[in-house]
This record gives sequence, structure tokens and C-alpha cells, in this order.
Amino acid sequence: MTAHPTSALMDNYGSPSLEFARGNGCELYTQQGQRYLDFAAGIAVTCLGHCHPVLIDALAQQSQRLWHTSNLYRIEQAERLGARLVENSFADKVFFCNSGAEAIEASYKTIRRYFFAKGQPHRNRIVSLSSAFHGRTLGAIASAFNSAHCDGFVVGDAGFDQAHFGDLDALLATITDNTAGIVLEPVQGEGGIRPADRAYLKAVRELCDDKGILLLFDEVQCGIARTGTLFAYEQLGVEPDILASAKGLGGGIPIGACLACEEIAAAMTAGSHGSTFGGNPLATAVGNAVLDVVLNDDFLIDVKHAGFHLRSGLEDLCARFPKQLKGVTGLGLMIGLQCHADAAALIQGAQDKSLLLVKAGGNSIRFLPPLIVSHQEINEALAIFEQVLNDHAEA
Ligand code: PLP
Repeated sequence: MTAHPTSALMDNYGSPSLEFARGNGCELYTQQGQRYLDFAAGIAVTCLGHCHPVLIDALAQQSQRLWHTSNLYRIEQAERLGARLVENSFADKVFFCNSGAEAIEASYKTIRRYFFAKGQPHRNRIVSLSSAFHGRTLGAIASAFNSAHCDGFVVGDAGFDQAHFGDLDALLATITDNTAGIVLEPVQGEGGIRPADRAYLKAVRELCDDKGILLLFDEVQCGIARTGTLFAYEQLGVEPDILASAKGLGGGIPIGACLACEEIAAAMTAGSHGSTFGGNPLATAVGNAVLDVVLNDDFLIDVKHAGFHLRSGLEDLCARFPKQLKGVTGLGLMIGLQCHADAAALIQGAQDKSLLLVKAGGNSIRFLPPLIVSHQEINEALAIFEQVLNDHAEA
């Protein structure tokens, strides 16, 4: 562990002292060679673990051919990745950017531009759900209404409304003639790993169809095989009109994507939006390599099996440590452990025993291992976490 008493970096991430020098699969190693079991996966990013040979090969090969040209020119790798995302989703068109927040921004802009192009510019408000997280750009924070993220940043009414997660009547009450879109995470991530109820999602879809509102799914965290299907919505029985993707799409290389139906995407005419790096050959070459691995039935079945295994182990711990743990939520390998005990203290306890986990809202812990995690590694993580619970019970 290296302490950095002074750092040139801004303090917005606090001052973490733990630092890693290399990674392999689900393992991370410090400079001193201490091994950590990574059940954080860079917050659901390194979906194929660290240094996956298919990704290394794609990056190495592309790095020797071409790094960057800009969107002034056709980018072969971006065309291919876009076509494959279209082929495997509800969407007809894709816009590439560099992060989840940018994918959300592009989606919000597409929604607004769609109604603008239809001669209905007043229809510009977007409704989000409580406990949502959509990123840290101005639009993304304004849409999520979390004062810890908004204070001192958001000016005036940025054009967003909010309804309580899962409450259809509250959503209906928020809708006006100016509502253009509804944005939701099919499985809320930062909010505490909360999958939306199927019946609720179906009702939201019907509401959107009825009122001509566009439905945007934020699959930045729950997408790209994390739940056992390429996109989480495939298991929830409802398709969106627009979808934001990022994180796992690059397996560790920054990339984001806004996927949309043809009619809606048509509003994004030449010059209406852009990104210097969006669809960059290096990022999209790696994105294609991620799809080479995850777009495989056996891979997706393994994710589901690993998810069941981890989930049943955590449910067993809940039964044995009822004073500390409340229950397990989630889908596939996007698992939340809802706690009675202080989640942050348990996460620190796990880190002290070389297991990396991530905090989420509602006093919960996220278990987000790389999707290649083995049952043996899951058993190891469960054994470490059990020790943490025992230590905590005795303290
Ligand atoms: N949307 C969701 C659901 C997320 O979980 C995140 C990041 O955690 C974002 C958007 C923002 O993504 P990024 O940090 O890549 O901008």
C-alpha cells in the first residue's frame, strides 16, 4: 500500500491509499505482490476480468494499425460494433461516445431533438425515478435529483421531473403534456441493486405507448451480459425506445453508446451532436472483442449459473447472520446484499481481508465480480465474507 500525502489530483475521490500494479482474471496485485480478489470489477466495467487474452490481442493488433482518425472519416471497427449491437437488440442505430454519462446525455438530447423535429419543442421534460443514478454530467445529475451530486452545480430547472421508483400512480401524476421521455435503470445500481418489477415495467411501457412518451433504459451498469443476457431488459419482458450502454462494453477501455430506434435516431441529423473520440478505432476494436466473448450462449449460461451460486451462498449467510444481513437482491452477477450492519464497515472488513466489494445506496453492498468468475473464486469470496461477519459479530 502506498500512501500519497500530497497528490496533484483533485480531492473529489477522497484520497484512496490502496493501489494496484497488475491484474489477472479476478485477481488484482499490489506493487508488493499482495493478492486481492476483485468482486468490484472497476464498478461493473472489467466484465472479462483483468488482462483477458482476447481483449489484449484486439488492443495490441489495433494499436499497431490505427489509433484515431476522428468521425470525419468512416471507422470500420465502429461500423462493425454498431451493426452487432443493432443485430442483438431492439435498436436500429447507434451513437458512440466515451462514458456512461455521455451515453445518457446523448440519449436525453435524442429524446428532446425527436420532439423538436416533430414540431413539438414544448415536449422536452424527462422523468426519472427516485434513487436513480445516471452519471455526473450536468444533465445526468440534474435528472437524478441527488442533492449530494447536484448542490452547487445545477442551475435552475434543468427540465427534469422525478417519480418514486416502482410507484405507477406517482409516475402518472408526474406526466404532463410536456413530458418527452422516461428514464430508468432496469436494475438500479448505485441506488442499491434493485431490479424493476416486471409488471411495473410493462405498465410503464404501456403508459409510454399510450401518451407517445419515449422510454429510455439506462443499462450502463446492468447491460453487457452482467445479468446473464446481453441487455437486462431481455429478461424483463419490455423493450425501450432508447438505451444507454457503457462500462462493460469496453471491458476497461472507455466507451459509451446510445442505441435508438430508426424513427427516433432520425432526429439526430448531421452536425446535431458529436464526440471527438466517440467510436475511436482502439475502443471499438476492444468493444468488438468483448462481444466476441459475451455473445455466446454458453458464456451467458455460465454467468447465470455463477449468479445463482453467489446468490445462494449470500442467502445462506443472510440466514446465518440475521442481525447483520437483511437479504439479497439483483439479477445474474449484479448482486446486492442489503445490510442491517453498516455496509461500509463490512466492505472495509472485506478489503482488509483482500476481497474488494462496492457500496451502494440503502446501506447495501454490491457484489460485481468479473463475468468470468469461477465457482471456486465465489466460494473463496463467500468464505472471506463469512469471516468478516464473524469478526463483526464479535466486535
Ligand atoms: N448510469 C448508470 C446506471 C451508472 O451506474 C453509471 C456509473 O456508475 C453511469 C450512468 C455513469 O457512467 P460513467 O461513470 O461512465 O459516466
